[in-house]
Amino acid sequence: MQLYNKLSAKEREKLLEQAGEERLTLSFYQYAKIGNPHLFRNHLFITWHEQDVLGRIYVAHEGINAQLSVPAKRFIDFKQFLDGIYFLKDVRLNIAIEQDLKSFLKLKVKVRDKIVADGLNDATFDVTNIGTHVDALKFNELIDDPNVVLVDMRNHYESEIGHFKNAITPDVDTFRDSLDIIENNLKDYKEDKKLVMYCTGGIRCEKASAYYKHKGFKNVFQLEGGIIEYARQVENQGLENKFIGKNFVFDHRRGERITDDVISHCHQCGEPCDTHTNCANEACHLLFIQCEKCAVAMENCCSSECIEIIHLPEDEQKRLRQGIPNSNKIFKKGRSEKLKFKK
Ligand SMILES: [Zn+2]
Ligand SMILES: [Zn+2]
Repeated sequence: MQLYNKLSAKEREKLLEQAGEERLTLSFYQYAKIGNPHLFRNHLFITWHEQDVLGRIYVAHEGINAQLSVPAKRFIDFKQFLDGIYFLKDVRLNIAIEQDLKSFLKLKVKVRDKIVADGLNDATFDVTNIGTHVDALKFNELIDDPNVVLVDMRNHYESEIGHFKNAITPDVDTFRDSLDIIENNLKDYKEDKKLVMYCTGGIRCEKASAYYKHKGFKNVFQLEGGIIEYARQVENQGLENKFIGKNFVFDHRRGERITDDVISHCHQCGEPCDTHTNCANEACHLLFIQCEKCAVAMENCCSSECIEIIHLPEDEQKRLRQGIPNSNKIFKKGRSEKLKFKK
């Protein structure tokens, strides 16, 4: 029985192009007690592999967090399979607005300690005492209230290309860092202000809202389904859209355009641009914003050093990478002194 990928990303890309069939990019999460995450993981992999589902899925004792691409014609099967799992019955599926055939090129189902790396010790607070969920309509009303503090729970490279008007966007690399910074900034408002938070698909707010309530914030609200679901509701219900720019997403597309505003700049030349890319040097893989002109001039690299490396023979590049564990973790996401226009 096959429990792991056999095709490389390149081979998969070719197959997808040849097949040309419609796919749906979607995500969902659920906090639930899972007794044996490994067994559950294998169950998911076997079924989804058979259904030609691709994506990145994390399974832990605390639940599941999944980002997927599903063949449109297998969607009914996929949905039935989910509904057959008691804690996933009628789980909200966040369906991406912009569809891309190649949003995911592999099926990776991983067992982790947690479904979001939040760095929190869950035993120290009541994780079920979460904030009040609000939909797009209520969220729009709330954030007009002068008594509201609106907080973006995402990292700097995400809010840089798009965020809600008037939101606090902490300049952080990790979710854990943002929790402390926000608490510190807002400590005088715990009693009287309403704390309203949002993230990409809602999952980070599930923990953050419980954490802030534990820390003494009295009025905590969270955007249900995050920016993805907000954009869908705004479109379907003809509501005012208070988000500007692009929603950063964690798949091949890297961003989903919500409005035409381009609020960020190319990190190499400073021109308006909101397209993320990863440095073409495998050993670097830095995530940064690069315009088309710079992509050509810099050969998709972040620096002249990286250009030199990609011109070396593959064997030589491999030799240089040796002994450097997990190379793309060495660089902080989206930060490098070599990028002239990265604040
Ligand atoms: Zn540029
Ligand atoms: Zn680089």
